[in-house]
Amino acid sequence: MTATPPTLAALSAKNLYLQPLPPSHTPLPGKENFGRYMLSIPWNNVTGWGQATIEPRRDITVDPLSGVMQYAGTCFEGMKCYKTEEGDLRLFRPSKNFDRLKRSAARLGLPCEWDNDELVSLLAKLVSLESDLVPQYDGGNLYIRPTMIETGEAYGIKASPYASSALLYIVTAVNLGKALYASAEEEGKGIKLDACKEYIRAWPGGTGSYKLGANYGTVMIAKKPDFAMSLWVHTEGGEDYISEAGAMNVFIIKQAEDGALEFITMSLSNGIVLPGITRDSIIELLRKHGANEKDFPLDGMLRNIRVVERDISMSEITSSLADGSLKGMFGCGTGVVVVSIGQIQYDNQMYTIPHNPLVLLLRDTITGMQRGKIEHEWSYKVPEWKGVRAEAAAESKGNDEKAEDLAA
Ligand SMILES: *Cc1c(COP(=O)(O)O)cnc(C)c1O
Repeated sequence: MTATPPTLAALSAKNLYLQPLPPSHTPLPGKENFGRYMLSIPWNNVTGWGQATIEPRRDITVDPLSGVMQYAGTCFEGMKCYKTEEGDLRLFRPSKNFDRLKRSAARLGLPCEWDNDELVSLLAKLVSLESDLVPQYDGGNLYIRPTMIETGEAYGIKASPYASSALLYIVTAVNLGKALYASAEEEGKGIKLDACKEYIRAWPGGTGSYKLGANYGTVMIAKKPDFAMSLWVHTEGGEDYISEAGAMNVFIIKQAEDGALEFITMSLSNGIVLPGITRDSIIELLRKHGANEKDFPLDGMLRNIRVVERDISMSEITSSLADGSLKGMFGCGTGVVVVSIGQIQYDNQMYTIPHNPLVLLLRDTITGMQRGKIEHEWSYKVPEWKGVRAEAAAESKGNDEKAEDLAA
């Protein structure tokens, strides 16, 4: 007799339960900028994924000995929803975020199997309900925070290294774009970084390439006043290498001896660097542009360019500054999109990085795609949705106005 493995339910968008906001809904003081709703989907190792629910944003209750409370069993994603000039909502490469969430969850022994299309469809419904909160201008957006936590008990040595239960939830926050560094895109205005050797963010074989809560909680303390963020440095063979800055990937722009302009960023191969979706997008844009492929709009960018993924040492930065071959430096990530780096403090000395207008060109291209000004397959158009109860009401009454009422 062979035992049949239990079938765990798959994550599904079909039986979504929507709990509308009460008519009396008012945000709690200090929480006015948060989206009003949250999406949550529980999971356990006996039945699999449970029912997806969209309900008014609320506190979460967990056992004091749960994995998230005891051993930081949590990972997350950072995404944004944009409103186009025509008023529709867009997400930027959302499946990429959910692929990365799977990777992070797998690293923690959390559930990591689902169909991204189902999850994207649920997220699309969540942001649709918040449509009127999404700012409609460059730099403004609805920030999206998918999170997975281990709700199962975890202390001492467990028989199984895998979580017994978990919760996947998504909450949102209105981002007015004030923290964006758009003003950094002028001569002498780039952000200021502190090359930090005291707190090491990531090391080979560690978890730096995963978006785990623990990676962030342990290095928050490194940020010095007067600096936008830390430039993460690790030492190998007596040489200081950079990896990332804050929660951004980093590129340097360098004039190569053969005349090409090189965009150099740390390779992903040693597991230290977070595989950013903005980083990936910039690499693809530049590579296709350099190869003369027409469908990638980067008007004004030189053609004689090259993308290089390899280690970058601090001594390469200081020596290429000295000989004039360093032509610029920038950070990129969902939060900042693309931002010029203007100064680096390293070994008690301040280095000024040359300003490069190509950074703004990259920024405008990516933000143009995100807000649907540049049509591109990377931009996902959110289908309009007013809520399941609204759908039912519209069907039975054939009355669209009623549907709007219910969803309001
Ligand atoms: C999230 C993150 C990035 C940027 O990734 P995007 O997908 O571009 O937003 C870069 N570095 C770190 C450490 C991060 O956490």
